[in-house]
Amino acid sequence: GRTRVCGIFGCPVEHSFSPAMQNAAFKAAGLDYVYVPFLVRPGHLQAAVEAVRALDMAGVNVTIPHKETVLSFLDEISEEARLTGAVNTIVNRTGRLFGDNTDGKGFLRSLKENTGFTPAGKTALLIGAGGAARAVAVQLALAGLKKLFLANRSEGRARELAAFLAAQAGTEVEVIPWPKGESEVLPGRAVTESDLVVQATSLGMYPRQQETVPLPFELFGPGKVACDLVYNPVETLFLQKAGQAGATAVDGLGMLLYQGALAFELWTGIAAPVGAMREALVRLYPVKKNG
Ligand code: NDP
Repeated sequence: GRTRVCGIFGCPVEHSFSPAMQNAAFKAAGLDYVYVPFLVRPGHLQAAVEAVRALDMAGVNVTIPHKETVLSFLDEISEEARLTGAVNTIVNRTGRLFGDNTDGKGFLRSLKENTGFTPAGKTALLIGAGGAARAVAVQLALAGLKKLFLANRSEGRARELAAFLAAQAGTEVEVIPWPKGESEVLPGRAVTESDLVVQATSLGMYPRQQETVPLPFELFGPGKVACDLVYNPVETLFLQKAGQAGATAVDGLGMLLYQGALAFELWTGIAAPVGAMREALVRLYPVKKNG
């Protein structure tokens, strides 16, 4: 047989959770595949992408700082990749390189598997305007979200994302101002009117687990879903506070798992062994550095 090679291109890449997760998946599925972390420095990205073709690799994941720059080196990109302007998965289709973004789809699948939540006709509050927030916003809009409240520390970034979404999708977007003073919180209306609150900033991530978004947490009642993208730690202060107030909490590990499951399915064409992948991820905790 011929071992098929997958991997991840990033800089840094050594703390990625993906090799453990994907190698566990290949083993569980009985596939002769291997997943390798590749340290790809910024000036070498194009050569690294060319190597996927030259070495007939099955495909790769792409992470910081290459997700945006990689687009110009690919033959074809998905709708999600085009709309988010970022690629996290490359598939080698007999020499033609296809770029996709499974982050947003992974987020939605995690939400659905954990809570049954579907965005059509619903209202959500999204906190953050970085790469992860953009992937989530695009996917929610594609899935028919009715209204999105958007808040980000740098309001200009929130306005940019809002303008982009308004031009691309039928979702109504309202930018809400970030609290000015230490004792202020985001407006209660954005929480009470929302079915879903997504924390997509890096607040609360190791080693600053004691920090969180300034929110009126007492308004997170039963029936609301609170979702954090941070997965180190798994149980963030945001999820603890929202959960204590009665909301259903969904952690960032689910998104990490399903973006990987979708990449696995793109490379192998078979259903991902999600249980084995989740076990491999859980075995990585407690971790000290961010993945
Ligand atoms: P970016 O660097 O692109 O964006 C960072 C975001 O966090 C911005 O909105 C930024 O606001 C905000 N932020 C950072 N520090 C603070 C602070 N002190 N106060 C308020 N806001 C702050 O990062 P990503 O979007 O790529 O990642 C965000 C988080 O999501 C990370 O923790 C990452 O690990 C996680 N993630 C999880 C995934 C998963 O599969 N579960 C997938 C991808 C990411 P500003 O614009 O003002 O700087």
